[in-house]
Amino acid sequence: MSDTIFGKIISGEIPTDFIYEDEHCVAINDIHPQAPVHVLVIPKKPIEKLSDAEPEDQALLGHLMLAAGKVAKQLGVGDAFRLIVNNGSGAGQTVFHLHLHILAGSTLAEARM
Ligand code: 5GP
Repeated sequence: MSDTIFGKIISGEIPTDFIYEDEHCVAINDIHPQAPVHVLVIPKKPIEKLSDAEPEDQALLGHLMLAAGKVAKQLGVGDAFRLIVNNGSGAGQTVFHLHLHILAGSTLAEARM
């Protein structure tokens, strides 16, 4: 497991509520939400960032997208959500264990980027 905060969350070293878990990933609420709904989908495999993923990770990457859709449904945000991956420090990545941000909520349509 990675030595990052997410590695510690996944291993249970830092106790955190999982709002979703399956064989390959977990979803947790972001500690500093940037939208009314801000959830992180994190693979259990410690890939540092999206651009480090290998062809062997293809199924896992698809799995994360499908898991994000499932989590959004579970959260009741329907089809109104945004998925973000910050890749590398130059793009704002701060935790170097791949994760998808799910953002949703009433203010989302105004927050264009
Ligand atoms: P990044 O900037 O790497 O794309 O996103 C990292 C995200 O992880 C940030 O939105 C930050 O608020 C969140 N985060 C950092 N530390 C923790 C933590 O200990 N618990 C949770 N739930 N979220 C965290």
